[in-house]
Amino acid sequence: MDISIVIALLNEEESLPELRDWIMKVIKENNYTYEIIFIDDGSNDKSWEIVEHFSQEDRHIKAIKFRRNYGKSAALNEGFFYANGDIVITMDADLQDNPEEIPEMVRMIKENGYDLVSGWKKKRYDPWSKTFPTKLYNWATRKMTGIYLHDFNCGLKAYRKDVIKSIEVYGEMHRYIPVIAKWAGFKNIGEKIVKHQERKYGSTKFGWERFINGFLDLLTITFISRFGKRPMHLFGSIGTLLFLIGFIIAGYLAYQKIVMGIPKINERPLFDLGILAMQLGTILFVGGFLAELVSRTAHDRNIYLIEKKIHLDQRK
Ligand code: UDP
Ligand code: MG
Repeated sequence: MDISIVIALLNEEESLPELRDWIMKVIKENNYTYEIIFIDDGSNDKSWEIVEHFSQEDRHIKAIKFRRNYGKSAALNEGFFYANGDIVITMDADLQDNPEEIPEMVRMIKENGYDLVSGWKKKRYDPWSKTFPTKLYNWATRKMTGIYLHDFNCGLKAYRKDVIKSIEVYGEMHRYIPVIAKWAGFKNIGEKIVKHQERKYGSTKFGWERFINGFLDLLTITFISRFGKRPMHLFGSIGTLLFLIGFIIAGYLAYQKIVMGIPKINERPLFDLGILAMQLGTILFVGGFLAELVSRTAHDRNIYLIEKKIHLDQRK
């Protein structure tokens, strides 16, 4: 199968018929063998009935319905689990992403050897209140991850199948799939300028919390990818450093009191600083041990991404 198109949707009933027709037009023009996987993320409008109807008309259209709203990341993750095409495409259901971009993205993966091609909404049709914070967020993500994409959170992306089978997204981490993919070892990440449309029907499903959650998720994935399997290296080193600083301060003050006979050592700010540093250092150290214990007992402790295997079955 050439392509799987994975679409997460929440209350998009007005957009769905046009979306399907538009995608089918592109698929027909390019003679792709295909599947379209719709994941209904707990809609309470007619979205599910519409999708169900699509799949009765065309057996290549598949659908999953969540019992409740779990979020776009969960929906995509579920879609990735079932996707079977050589190239997997994600797009939004609200007609903001243009399916006519798909053939070029597919070509970039097939012919130019990219693992992942991310859309770049260079000219965006969204309100200023959304585009401005997004610029900041993209800048911060570039600085923190060293991945030079202009637009991390574009819904329209194409992946080599290996990529989506090797990564797991949850929370609101769909914003960072390129980052997660790169840290999983997929280095060829490309970008394509894509046409973007104004939202035609309905309204955005993400409020202002998107920026706070997005920032917290960035910290989490940075931490997990660097220290998830060795938390003590982070906590232990900072803890040790702080403890040593506190210890040196305490030693210095003790020397002043005992050898030089300077009174009222405990009234000096340095005294508090020394104690605070030693305490914080100890707490971090203990925290590091606890994190290490947790990561050792976590069930996915020994799951490492393996690029190739010979004469071995798939890991269960
Ligand atoms: N979506 C989803 N679950 C959610 C929120 C959004 O499946 O909890 C879908 C939504 O239906 C759309 C896509 O994710 O297909 C992008 O959402 P939206 O257009 O609201 O985001 P924006 O374009 O404003 O970033
Ligand atoms: Mg949208």
